[in-house]
Amino acid sequence: MRRQGGLDRFRLPAAFLVVAIHTGPLTSFTEAGDVFLTSVLARVAVPFFLMVTGFFLHPRWAEGWAGIRPAWRKTAGLYLAATLLYLPLMVYKGDFLRKNLLWVEFRDLLFNGTFYHLWYFPALLLALPLTLLLIRSLGQRGALRAAGGLYLLGVLGDSWYGLAALLPPLDALYRQLFFFFDYTRNGLFLAPLFLLLGSELARRPELSPKTAAAGLGISFAVMTAEAFWLRSMEWPRHDSMYLALPLVMVFLFSLLRSRKAPGNKALAELGQSIYVIHPWSIVLVRGGAKVLRLTWLLVDNSVLFYLSVCVLTVLLSLGWGGFWRRFGPKRKPRTRRAWVEVDRPALRHNLRELRSVLEEGQRIMAVLKAEGYGHGAAPLAALLEDEGVDAFGTATLEEALALRRAGVCGTILVLGYVPPEAAGQAVRHRLTLTVVDEAHAAALEETGKPVHVHWKVDTGMHRLGVPWERLAEAVKAAPHLVTEGVYTHLCVSDGRSKAEESFTIRQLERFHSSLDRLAQAGIRPKEIHAQASYGLLNYTGLGCTLARVGIALYGVLSDGVRPRGAVALQPALALKSRVVSVRTVPAGEGAGYGLAFRAERDSRLAAVSIGYADGVPRSLSGRGEALVRGQRVSFAGRVCMDQLLLDVTDLPEVKPGDTVTLIGRDGDQVLSAEAMAGAAGTITNELLSRLGPRLERVFFS
Ligand SMILES: *Cc1c(COP(=O)(O)O)cnc(C)c1O
Repeated sequence: MRRQGGLDRFRLPAAFLVVAIHTGPLTSFTEAGDVFLTSVLARVAVPFFLMVTGFFLHPRWAEGWAGIRPAWRKTAGLYLAATLLYLPLMVYKGDFLRKNLLWVEFRDLLFNGTFYHLWYFPALLLALPLTLLLIRSLGQRGALRAAGGLYLLGVLGDSWYGLAALLPPLDALYRQLFFFFDYTRNGLFLAPLFLLLGSELARRPELSPKTAAAGLGISFAVMTAEAFWLRSMEWPRHDSMYLALPLVMVFLFSLLRSRKAPGNKALAELGQSIYVIHPWSIVLVRGGAKVLRLTWLLVDNSVLFYLSVCVLTVLLSLGWGGFWRRFGPKRKPRTRRAWVEVDRPALRHNLRELRSVLEEGQRIMAVLKAEGYGHGAAPLAALLEDEGVDAFGTATLEEALALRRAGVCGTILVLGYVPPEAAGQAVRHRLTLTVVDEAHAAALEETGKPVHVHWKVDTGMHRLGVPWERLAEAVKAAPHLVTEGVYTHLCVSDGRSKAEESFTIRQLERFHSSLDRLAQAGIRPKEIHAQASYGLLNYTGLGCTLARVGIALYGVLSDGVRPRGAVALQPALALKSRVVSVRTVPAGEGAGYGLAFRAERDSRLAAVSIGYADGVPRSLSGRGEALVRGQRVSFAGRVCMDQLLLDVTDLPEVKPGDTVTLIGRDGDQVLSAEAMAGAAGTITNELLSRLGPRLERVFFS
């Protein structure tokens, strides 16, 4: 369960603050008090909602549009519902009799909100794709800076407008802008910054409650002073955006977040419906008071007016909630054909376990080649960066570029060969390349570009690397290259036999002697690494700064050989599909290609929508297993490119739509990736890395 109850609990007060903005509870008593409440204090409410959205979306940005689409759709649905809800009111007020109706409606739809009080929805609808675009093109940091710039532009058209009005060219610019929208507090200028601040806080260590409270006190005092000073200057055109507001929000959000309590969905939903429904309550209270001749009491007394609106809103919200639960649309059945489920907590757990066996000063380099062994590289990288991983390995330049584009900030080392023609690209995107031999080093040096490299040393695997005896000379001959690291690869570190252990030790001795010679030449690379998963689990005390961990991070062993290091790993991936058709086949019939299945009795066969093009090895034909309704069943006949058959004769209740588990758990039955790879005569690394691009990746927390 996500423990963000502190955030959920503030949604209610935030919603009531929004109501306060629109009713002005203190107007009939104190003007300064009213200004403080509606123009200062209540201005935290909408930025708070935006930050919460950014906070929970933060792992999703890396997944691209697919990651934020659900949030966008939900907002669009709410916006549509709210617009319909207020249609009668808009008709009544004569909104549709205005001049330039189409243009006015277009502006309202995109920026102002179809009903004035509901500008939050269009702001979010515009800001979500805009923010994604900023992150994609500028990275997380660049996006934050750009959004900060937009916010400043917004402030100058809002509470600091008087300043802009003093400068004719700026004034002209804002006049142009206000042709498009009435206020700058919208999806363009206000929302992106708070979405990004929410995301940023989610990936940073938390502030202590004391620091957050002190920061909140100071920044809020500054904002109050700013607001009153601006008023005395008569500068505000509107009062939603202050220079100090982002700071106030960062501290407020940190303080709320530090309150650990279970999340509360009911409170969150109530907050939302209060926001949507309160404008109706305002109208109803006014109208009702008129009819009952109670205007003097319920409307003219601003506190009573506010309270009546709040009470009516809560009653309507609760009533609406009940109605919706009973008659609203039920969850749509899933329509996925075949998919991979990734268990975020298991990945975090594996990372913790692996970190516990690192040496002093050693870090994890997460190896994310082949879509992170089939798990989905970009979302995985986002999760790992959150957990403090700052180095990543890929097989190809394209994989590395994709991670950069997805917003990964840390070191990205390409473990495979990259042609020297791509040196400029590597430098531009801060990618680190592997030098695979002396000819490669010479060709990279030839480009004259300051490419950041890790030198690979061949210590006995004889695949890639400069021969260990010649490393120092090779490095000295390439002065343009920026030598960040040196590494080698162990080829039998998974084996536990005497011969394999002594070979590995010889590889490590050669590696260290090449490093010693490099040191004699005055070159001490920052990063030194030798271990992949099994190397890390079987060998320690190597003086390395990184461990390049792939398969173990995913919670899987390569081929079932138990390593020496005692770590408890949890598999993070499940492979699932669906039954799409069930039929009965009489005894004696064959089924599938080559009629390789023969029915020995009257049989029921279930066709499942997954095949070898999705990564289910064809070699499992006739001997693979899957789970349906918590029971083990066998593959029937050959695995096809897009489908396979299961023999479900003993499970008469199986029907189309049933979930089929090929890797993972169903009830108390488990099928492991190790067992599947073993049955297919391969290792899990191959099995997982071949899970195809047609599979949807579904992450759950
Ligand atoms: C793939 C790879 C790794 C990761 O290997 P695992 O056994 O999956 O941990 C490490 N180093 C290099 C050079 C690799 O190519």
